[in-house]
Amino acid sequence: MKRRIPYGRQHISEEDIAAVSKALTADFLTQGPNGVEFEKQFAEYIGCKYAVAVANGTAALHLCALALGVNEKSSVITTPITFTASANCIRFCGGEVDFADIDPDTILLSIEAVRKKLALAPKGTYEGIIPVNFAGYPVDMEAYRKLADEYGCWIIEDSCHSPGGYFTDSNGVQQNCGNGAFADLAIFSFHPVKHIACGEGGMITTNNEKLFKKIQELRSHGITKDPDVMHENHGGWYYEMHDLGYNYRFTDFQAALGISQLSRADKNLKRRKAIAKKYDAAFKGTEFEVILPKAGIGHAYHLYVIQVDDRKKLYDHLRALNILVQIHYIPVNTQPYYKTRGDFPTPNAQQYYARCLSLPMYPTLTDEEQDWVIEQVKGFRG
Ligand SMILES: *Cc1c(COP(=O)(O)O)cnc(C)c1O
Repeated sequence: MKRRIPYGRQHISEEDIAAVSKALTADFLTQGPNGVEFEKQFAEYIGCKYAVAVANGTAALHLCALALGVNEKSSVITTPITFTASANCIRFCGGEVDFADIDPDTILLSIEAVRKKLALAPKGTYEGIIPVNFAGYPVDMEAYRKLADEYGCWIIEDSCHSPGGYFTDSNGVQQNCGNGAFADLAIFSFHPVKHIACGEGGMITTNNEKLFKKIQELRSHGITKDPDVMHENHGGWYYEMHDLGYNYRFTDFQAALGISQLSRADKNLKRRKAIAKKYDAAFKGTEFEVILPKAGIGHAYHLYVIQVDDRKKLYDHLRALNILVQIHYIPVNTQPYYKTRGDFPTPNAQQYYARCLSLPMYPTLTDEEQDWVIEQVKGFRG
């Protein structure tokens, strides 16, 4: 088998194509009824009050940072094992990023490492925390809320990897990633490798009405047409610009695709879990270390990561076979851009980076393809 097997990929169905075609001949190409409907259905799926669709996940992060008032005086803590955008959103607003180390058992931002940073710094040093549900493993947001409240911090939950994931809170209640119960704001991405593919796209979810309205305004130039909040009203044409916003709008035909994709989200998540289960069983007791979710965790399996010595050789071997494995991620704090901004020792993240490899994980991966991938991984001897 020499067919290309990527680590992740989108699936576009006949229904998706029909939905986009229909949207293309409708009255609104951007900011139309499909966008509103997608926001409504996405909020229902996640279990939050409000959702705002935007141009991409990075724009979603930027708008969150803006709405929370991040500026040149801000300092924010995030994880090194994430996509660079989780940190960059703070830099967009002039703030500084600090990186705390990961927990090697979950590869998530270590709450103990964050607690230590908060406790050692003068009170008020940090404004916010950005935990990431890395690979689809949900962060215990209840614990982060408690910690954040002790230090007056806000929380942006980067949920790009985890639509449909959940953790179980101290009352035994399943809390969906991004549901707004604990984090101030959460964000999702609709990039093709993510669970819901729209080409480009993003969503901000929250239960905070004030932040919701602010983000809606910032998405479209900081302009409002709401008579209740305008300072003046000269007539039907009138609008007011209240803040320096952006054009981060989401097109209506992408929203049509999003609605159609969302209708398959549960089915696709089930398939991701089945693929993970098969990998778990295949690598049990081998040199290939896997992350098994703890009790009460609903893993969303955006990625399936193994850790192994001789990772580079295995990477080259699988790539040569057209199995397009990937590395998630190069620690963000070691990127040349961030290295010039500070010294962020994160030994656990470094250790993880040296050994990690993401295997193919997407709903349309066939059993036959997965068997072949497993065979090639297990058969490899550095
Ligand atoms: C994909 C991703 C983003 C950025 O989303 P885009 O839609 O590509 O801008 C941010 N954070 C994480 C963790 C991601 O995986």
